[in-house]
Amino acid sequence: MNYPSVEVRLDKLEQNAAHVLTTCYRHEIEPTAVTKVVSAHPDLVRTLHRTGFKSMADSRLGNLRSLRENAPGVQLGLLRLPAISRAPEVVSLADVSLNSEIETLRALDSAAGQRGINHGAVIMIDVGDLREGVWPDDVEAIGGQLAELSNIDVVGVGTNLACYGGVIPGRENMDELLSARGILEAALGRRVPMVSAGNSANWTMLEGGELPAEVNNLRLGEVIFLGNESVYRRRIEGMYGDVFTLKAEIIELKVKPSMPIGERGQDAFGKSHDFEDKGERLRAIAAVGRADVEPEGLEPCDPGIEILGASSDHLILDVEDAEEGPVLGDIVSFTVRGYSALLYLFMSPYVDKIMAQG
Ligand SMILES: *Cc1c(COP(=O)(O)O)cnc(C)c1O
Repeated sequence: MNYPSVEVRLDKLEQNAAHVLTTCYRHEIEPTAVTKVVSAHPDLVRTLHRTGFKSMADSRLGNLRSLRENAPGVQLGLLRLPAISRAPEVVSLADVSLNSEIETLRALDSAAGQRGINHGAVIMIDVGDLREGVWPDDVEAIGGQLAELSNIDVVGVGTNLACYGGVIPGRENMDELLSARGILEAALGRRVPMVSAGNSANWTMLEGGELPAEVNNLRLGEVIFLGNESVYRRRIEGMYGDVFTLKAEIIELKVKPSMPIGERGQDAFGKSHDFEDKGERLRAIAAVGRADVEPEGLEPCDPGIEILGASSDHLILDVEDAEEGPVLGDIVSFTVRGYSALLYLFMSPYVDKIMAQG
């Protein structure tokens, strides 16, 4: 076995996925599984596919190729706004894409026309988070321009909250989205069937039955993989928060003081730290670092181990109170709790991905 590695409990992932589907169906929502946080890893995609997701999406074109291969028959969406320069690939790889720029939509229209196909577009509306989306005042104008594109099917409106501005989904911003749909339908003279109301930050509204009845889609990643909603990072009852375990090998184990010695400036990443003087402690260095993971999103499986910090390739641990006194060469395990931690682990070619069952 090679380390560092991330172990994936596919049985737990499958249960999380099934819980998400059941909860969504109870509220008449057809969810889209978002796979970017695991780089659309084939084994994980196949697990989601088996569970029954009919729609999947990713922010990267390369990841859509993996989805096409490993989740046949599923509707595929591109999440990140398409780049004009990639329009031909977008229409060939994705069935639908999220959009906010008429010029890009024109490029997609012409690329789709060249292939003799239609491309689905979800028009993103910015209801306040200030990431992507058409400003509500401009919906009518873009609707008129969209009416002229014969190879674009406007399949829905969408919005994204709690991403840049941290704005919490609620009744008001949901109503803004619905009113944008009304304006778009009037401008197009057609029904716009899908209302894609957001991401894992909408989970609390969903569970509480507080989403407007018109909402029929959510794009969900974090809640499936990490088992928590994403406004307060609250654990969801009945879901697993420990699908992913990072394992790394101890490459140094020594008793050292807890205060650095000498005049102090910034660390390797331009930050300064405060240190608490706990006297001499048994410290370990594990062979994984910020190049592969965000240490703040890791929780040591042994509660007696504390993460002190990390540089690019070294994770520094206080193991003085470890339940089993470690020795050099031991493997330490961490539950992956953070979204960025998971994202980096799956993006890193230096971390082995190991599939496990119960
Ligand atoms: C990443 C992303 C999602 C999924 O977000 P989670 O918080 O993982 O549920 C949904 N929509 C868009 C546009 C995204 O980029």
